[in-house]
Amino acid sequence: MIALRKTAAAFGLELVPLDGLMSPAAGDVLIEVAAAGICGSDLHAYEWTPGYEFMAANLPVTVGHEFSGVIRSVGKDVSDFAPGDRVVCWPTKTCGKCSSCLADEPQNCSRRSIIGLHCDGGFADMVTVPVANCRHVPDELDLSIAALSEPLAVGVNAVDIADVRPGARVVVLGPGPIGLGIAWVAKHRGAKVLIAGLCDPLRLSLALQMGIDDAFDLADKSLEQAVADAFGQSADRVIEATGVARSVSDGLAVLRPGGILVVAGIHSKPLELDLTRFVREKKQLRGAHDTTDRALREAIQLLAENSDALSKLITHRRPLSSGIEAFELARGRQAVKVLLFPQGQDVTFEGEDA
Ligand SMILES: [Zn+2]
Ligand SMILES: [Zn+2]
Repeated sequence: MIALRKTAAAFGLELVPLDGLMSPAAGDVLIEVAAAGICGSDLHAYEWTPGYEFMAANLPVTVGHEFSGVIRSVGKDVSDFAPGDRVVCWPTKTCGKCSSCLADEPQNCSRRSIIGLHCDGGFADMVTVPVANCRHVPDELDLSIAALSEPLAVGVNAVDIADVRPGARVVVLGPGPIGLGIAWVAKHRGAKVLIAGLCDPLRLSLALQMGIDDAFDLADKSLEQAVADAFGQSADRVIEATGVARSVSDGLAVLRPGGILVVAGIHSKPLELDLTRFVREKKQLRGAHDTTDRALREAIQLLAENSDALSKLITHRRPLSSGIEAFELARGRQAVKVLLFPQGQDVTFEGEDA
């Protein structure tokens, strides 16, 4: 088999041949990967941006955590899942013993590690994962669209953290795959949603195609003006998915007193904040990262029920053998979600309709 691996603590990835995998250990399952999406964190690992040095201790490692596939074999002590089952994975491995795990908040596990960053992930023909990380894919959901489960679940979680209610006026900053997912989920919950980008016409027009109320480019209009035009008043919620610190202070400026701003981007620079105004206006600043079991299950269901709208997030499909080219594509703003297909994309998986 082949795998797309981080082999050195430097820019780049390597497509390498790998020996076949052994049978899964107790509690693990072996998955034949159907489709795997390139995530922003995969791009950071590829570009070797600051904040990803933790990977150095685990190299070489096969990247990819947004994958779907079919279980081919199961280890001892595996119940509820069997060979032939179609699955997606929650990429967070937890210890099961820390206070967060014992409090049934595994997403906050102090010893968590990520499949595809700390240990081998899904940019390969086969991947072995703990069965605890697997979730069933409903029959009606195509496996390539199911590969969106994890990134959409990140969006569902951000909308949960923002406590978006029906009728809320929501601004989403950043029309990347996570921002678009957040905007769609907020809209689906009955909010009025405005999404903003900077010099990003293609992805903003995709937002409108997905049914988001309003999309605008900061190259054409200021955020204050766009919010005034769309809502006639300040926003109730702002959700940031840009990774640009400045957008957090810009977002706070259009948030109403008592409103909530959720930071969902990964930031390499610190934020300068007018704390006096922040405190007097009693604004809430919250961080959202990763997802929860609840949000992942909701994301899978949303994908099954709204495949037409949500599959628009998939703009490119490439065989895994073209993985490096696909990463270069994903770095640009002409792509939203790029999916890699280890088995070729025309393969029909057992248990999946043609
Ligand atoms: Zn991801
Ligand atoms: Zn734990």
